[in-house]
Amino acid sequence: MSGLDGLRNFTRRDRVFNFLVDADEMVPDTSKGYILYVEDLSVSFDGFKAINDLNLYIREGELRCIIGPNGAGKTTLMDIITGKTKPDKGSVFFGQDIDLLQFSEPEIAKIGIGRKFQKPTVFEQLTVFENLELAMAANKRVWYTLSAVLTAEQIDRIDEILVQAGLIELKLVPASMLSHGQKQWLEIAMLVMQEPRLLLVDEPVSGMTHQEMDKTAELLHQLTGKHSVVVVEHDMDFVRSIATDVTVLHQGSVLAEGSMDQVQANPDVVSVYLGE
Ligand code: ADP
Ligand code: MG
Repeated sequence: MSGLDGLRNFTRRDRVFNFLVDADEMVPDTSKGYILYVEDLSVSFDGFKAINDLNLYIREGELRCIIGPNGAGKTTLMDIITGKTKPDKGSVFFGQDIDLLQFSEPEIAKIGIGRKFQKPTVFEQLTVFENLELAMAANKRVWYTLSAVLTAEQIDRIDEILVQAGLIELKLVPASMLSHGQKQWLEIAMLVMQEPRLLLVDEPVSGMTHQEMDKTAELLHQLTGKHSVVVVEHDMDFVRSIATDVTVLHQGSVLAEGSMDQVQANPDVVSVYLGE
């Protein structure tokens, strides 16, 4: 082996090593205006095509709702984007250059995709503020050690997110005392603390009152711009109230895209929903 070979090997290993370690430093190239490119995606479970040649593009900073009947593939799509499920074929790119299929679930979270599951998972015994403090500790981009006293700047950041989530008055209340809706907002706030570029939210308003739904729509709108937000939702009143672009999934593919008025007037969408 020549000295040059040795150097090349070392360089390559070094590059791979850095690549893995710096997942939280990776910045997607959104110069074309898109944060997510999903193309020709398919996955089967026991011969059943849960996702079937699906194409989906999400613009940077937009709020998109994904709707569709039960079994349409909505959750499976989220599972693929977040690295929980690997597809049989197709591609998923974060910005133009980050091939998400190369990464594990924890790496994808670090690269900047946050996911909120349907059931809220906050720390019940801790206060609202402490829940956010923990979320801050998990964010590698913010200097933080658990034993250290928070800086004024860090406290301000937590307060700012609490105001946005409508929870500032409940800052010192244990999370166990919150209503179902308030827990959902707390969990969204905890995700925002991680500064994800793309936030995937699964059925945020199930079990909420109409008033809580309105506040959720407002919160999700406030997050756009800085974050891109994809909401999977069943509740048609909510999707209508959120007044944003809608993608309709059916049998693992995109059936229609457009405003809620446009997709509701689409005969294919009408027949799918009547047939449900
Ligand atoms: P949605 O969220 O739109 O209701 P899903 O993505 O959960 O739909 O499911 C799509 C289809 O794929 C369903 O028929 C479901 O039963 C099937 N499916 C999802 N995940 C798995 C899995 N891990 N194993 C087998 N079948 C699955
Ligand atoms: Mg689902």
